[in-house]
Amino acid sequence: MVNYKDLGLVNTRDMFARAIKGGYAIPAFNFNNMEQLQAIIKAAVETKSPVILQVSKGARNYANQTLLRYMAEGAVAYAKELGCEHPEIVLHLDHGDSFELCKSCVDLGFSSVMIDGSHLPYEENVALTKKVVEYAHQYDVTVEGELGVLAGVEDEVSAEHHTYTNPEEVIDFSTRTGCDSLAISIGTSHGAYKFKPEQCHVDPQTGRLVPPPLAFDVLDAVMEKLPGFPIVLHGSSSVPQEYVDMINQYGGKLEAAIGIPEEELRKAAKSAVCKINIDSDSRLAMTAAVRKVFVEKPAEFDPRKYLGPARDEMEKMYKHKILNVLGSDGKLAH
Ligand SMILES: [Zn+2]
Repeated sequence: MVNYKDLGLVNTRDMFARAIKGGYAIPAFNFNNMEQLQAIIKAAVETKSPVILQVSKGARNYANQTLLRYMAEGAVAYAKELGCEHPEIVLHLDHGDSFELCKSCVDLGFSSVMIDGSHLPYEENVALTKKVVEYAHQYDVTVEGELGVLAGVEDEVSAEHHTYTNPEEVIDFSTRTGCDSLAISIGTSHGAYKFKPEQCHVDPQTGRLVPPPLAFDVLDAVMEKLPGFPIVLHGSSSVPQEYVDMINQYGGKLEAAIGIPEEELRKAAKSAVCKINIDSDSRLAMTAAVRKVFVEKPAEFDPRKYLGPARDEMEKMYKHKILNVLGSDGKLAH
C-alpha cells in the first residue's frame, strides 16, 4: 500500500473548490509515455498551473500502471527541478470500470479515481460508485462519478449516441454516493471524430464544419440542483484544424475530424465545470509533428529527432489550453 501523499501528489478537493470560486478549470491531460509527461509538466510549471495527469485503462495496458505511477512520482520531482516549489499534481484514473481496478489504483498511489458506471442501470451505478467512494475516502483519495452517456470512442469506452445527464438525478446521485465530482454529458464526445458532418453546418467565412452547440441548458440545470459542486467534462478536445491539415499534408488520412470549439470550453470553464479532459489534441499534435519529420527528413532514424519535435508541439498545445481556454495559469495555492 502506497499513499499518494508520500509521493508528493495531491487529490482534487482543494483545487476544484478554488477553480469553481475562481471561474476557471483544471486541465486533465491523458498520458502514456515520457514525452507527453515531460510536455505536460513543463507546460504546467511554466504557466504555474495545477494539473491532473490521467491514466486510462488503455494507458495502463500500454505502459503498465506501476511504471506510470513511478513516472507521476518522477513528475513531481521534475516539476520541482524546473523551479516549481509547490507543484499541484494529481494522478487520476480515467474511466475506472470496476471496484477492483479503482482499489488497485488507490493502493498503488493514485490520488484520484473515476468510477464510470454511466452505462449501468441507475441503481447499479449508485451502488458501485458508493462502494468505490467508501474505499477511496479512507485514504483521502477523491472520486469522480459519471451520469449520462457520452458518444464516441476512447480506448475501451465507446457509445454510438450520447444521452444527456438527467438533472433530476444529480442530487440523489451525489448525496447517496458521496462522490467528490461528477462527469456529465452535455454533448461533448470522445475521440477525434466527435460529430458526423451531417450534424454540422459550414462556416461561410472559413469553409470549416461547425458542430452543434453544447447543451448549456443541461449544465445550468445541473448547477441549479447542485450549487458549487465540481462538474467534469470529458471528450473536450477541440481537434485543432492546423494539426488535422498538417497530418493530411504529410501523408495522413483524417477525414472530417471535428472537435469542440474552444469558445464553448472557455464558457464552460467559467462555470462549475472545474475539470476539462483533453486527450485527442495531444495525440494529434504528436502525430502531426512526427509525420512532418518523416516526410521532410526521410533519412532520420534517431527517435529523439522526431519525438523531440513532437514533445515541443505538445507543450505548445498544453500551454495554449491552460492560458487561452481553461484559465488555470497562475492558480497554484503556494
Ligand atoms: Zn472520458
